[in-house]
Amino acid sequence: MVERLRAAGIDDERLVAAFAAVERHRFVDSALANQAYEDTSLPIGFGQTISKPSVVGRMLQALLAGAPRAAAPAGATRGGMRSAPLHRVLEIGTGCGYQAALLAHLATNVVSIERVGALADKARANLAAAGVRNVQVLHGDGRAGAPVLAPFDAIVSAAGGAELPAAWLEQLAAGGRLVAPGAEVRPGVQELLVVERWPTGCRRRVAGEVWFVPLKSGAE
Ligand code: SAH
Repeated sequence: MVERLRAAGIDDERLVAAFAAVERHRFVDSALANQAYEDTSLPIGFGQTISKPSVVGRMLQALLAGAPRAAAPAGATRGGMRSAPLHRVLEIGTGCGYQAALLAHLATNVVSIERVGALADKARANLAAAGVRNVQVLHGDGRAGAPVLAPFDAIVSAAGGAELPAAWLEQLAAGGRLVAPGAEVRPGVQELLVVERWPTGCRRRVAGEVWFVPLKSGAE
């Protein structure tokens, strides 16, 4: 899978290392485990899917592009803490927790919000079984972000809509970056938005095309 990701342009070594470390088969049903390392989305229940690895790779590579490269080599420790390229990250749409587990390798702390309670529970169990300890899964409507835990230096959403929720931009730290699917530009195609927050305001650009599930309102 890692070689295929490289061929697809995922060349940030910090991200490649995260993909190599996280076992994707742990995040899907055992009946689908034999397909876990193919570049395909798979059902995770409740009408939702685990995203395609190459799409997750593009999102996270866009997120990391703004992060400073640590002076210490990857895996080095600083005051007992692993030095991570990102400090605090907010993820919207935990699903089964796979992308959250990748983020756990790239950030000191990850807060992830899922609107389907049963999926939030599943993600917590998957992350615990994978030994991931720096992800906090919250059940709720991610459109509100997590104001109590803000600001975040990176925000990434696995669900998209025509409008970026204002709360996300409010909770983005200065110098931070948000990556999310945006408006549907053609049937079945959303623009991939990258927003950077500067002291003078937000700079927004389109960084390609993706297709994610809609960002739904409310929690269930
Ligand atoms: N991150 C997952 C992808 C999950 S698919 C992975 O690693 O593969 C997108 C998820 O977004 C679904 O689980 C869906 O329930 C969730 N979602 C949709 N709208 C949401 C909202 N408003 N708040 C939180 N989660 C939401």
